[in-house]
Amino acid sequence: KMPPCDFVPEKYQSYAYDHMLKIRERNISPSLVTYYKKPLLLHQGYMQWLFDYEGRRYLDLFAGIVTVSVGHCHPKVTVATQKQLARLWHTTNIYMHPSIQEYAEKLTSFLPDPLKVVYLTNSGSEANDLAMFLARIYTRNFDIICFRGGYHGGSPYTLGVTSIGPYKHGIANGFGCSTTMLPDVFRGPWGGSHCRDSPVQTIRKCSCSEGVCHAKDQYIEQFKDTLNTCVPKTIAGFIAEPIQGVNGTVQYPKGFLKEAYQLVRERGGLCISDEVQTGFGRTGSHFWGFQTHDVVPDIVTMAKGIGNGFPMGAVVTTKEIASSLAQNLHFNTFGGNPVACVVGAAVLDAIEEDGLQKNSEEVGTYMLLEFAKLRDKFEIVGDVRGKGLMIGIEMVTNKGSCHPLPDEEISRIWEDCKDMGVLIGRGGLCRQTFRIKPPMCITKRDADFAVEVFRTALERHMERAAEK
Ligand code: PMP
Repeated sequence: KMPPCDFVPEKYQSYAYDHMLKIRERNISPSLVTYYKKPLLLHQGYMQWLFDYEGRRYLDLFAGIVTVSVGHCHPKVTVATQKQLARLWHTTNIYMHPSIQEYAEKLTSFLPDPLKVVYLTNSGSEANDLAMFLARIYTRNFDIICFRGGYHGGSPYTLGVTSIGPYKHGIANGFGCSTTMLPDVFRGPWGGSHCRDSPVQTIRKCSCSEGVCHAKDQYIEQFKDTLNTCVPKTIAGFIAEPIQGVNGTVQYPKGFLKEAYQLVRERGGLCISDEVQTGFGRTGSHFWGFQTHDVVPDIVTMAKGIGNGFPMGAVVTTKEIASSLAQNLHFNTFGGNPVACVVGAAVLDAIEEDGLQKNSEEVGTYMLLEFAKLRDKFEIVGDVRGKGLMIGIEMVTNKGSCHPLPDEEISRIWEDCKDMGVLIGRGGLCRQTFRIKPPMCITKRDADFAVEVFRTALERHMERAAEK
């Protein structure tokens, strides 16, 4: 059952049947629609809701891959954007426009000292490209360390640290990039049943004693091993997300990142926090993911939620690191576009005015605990994890073996959720994870609806399995 939709303005409920028919008649390029078996043709969005051409409404739990942070067509962001579109679209950053300066000041007011220099880009890949470039020219070293399973972009530079094989299509070699073991308390060898910063802990037991995290210490040993044996004595940097996103919302043991940062700095490297998914209040307790690990990076990269769907990204670093980049020898034609700056500022306002970080924490915690009840009930739900509205649900054949649930079975559950009106993301490297990362304006009532739909899809799966 759909919750009532009285809060959606009528104009957003119109169904464009004629338009739908026209699109159906055309041959849609397979490169454009590949997610669901039957392509989902969307025509409108309003806050946490999406509408297809057949008049169906969906609760969007994936937010256009963790991007629509404050809600589809958020009224205030939309109006601010329209006003700027009528004034000035483009200057390039070789000219000054007040929106650029205002946005840079506003953005850095959300970041701790000494992170005060902003470079604006158009995407997360570009932001990470620039971050790695900065680390290399500042340190005059070349090697970058990254985690297995990390995704940092699809450009040749970032594919080197994107450590999910299929994305490389067999050719991106990542010269100067070393992949280190992922400190994953669910799939890793040392468990971690009370090691992660989440309201829900993993079922995988660990041998931690009070105050000492065994799993974290083991992973730190592995990290040291990479630093001591795989790379030169000095390195350019270490890039990591505070919670790994594309790979299925993987969380590290508490305290790991802080120690890893220290080890990297001892070898002259810079620490890059990829906040493309974890930034802008998504983890609830803090505005940035790195704050949940009690660290201050040297370079922070961001995209996705920064523009609520408008293509933009940013790199923020210190004055000292930025000084290594000759001012007139770095520019980006579209980065810092006045429209993007206005969108970015309106998104920051919306996060504050609508209390979205707090909402992320409250609704996220509520959802995590509700999904954890399903984990306790269903054998195929292996792990429920995350923080705020960054949630992963890992699906297994059974909790004993933890083998990933076969693809056809996962797809069926996922398609069933869609047919019942809930869009969920997928992810994982050698694992099967559902990703729940909705616009941060989602309510507890939506959460109840989502959990109910997911429970129904799991029950249907069990019925199918019993019939076999
Ligand atoms: N970093 C992370 C953590 C991401 O999830 C992504 C995109 N999935 C990127 C970087 C690359 O961003 P973009 O697709 O905007 O280039």
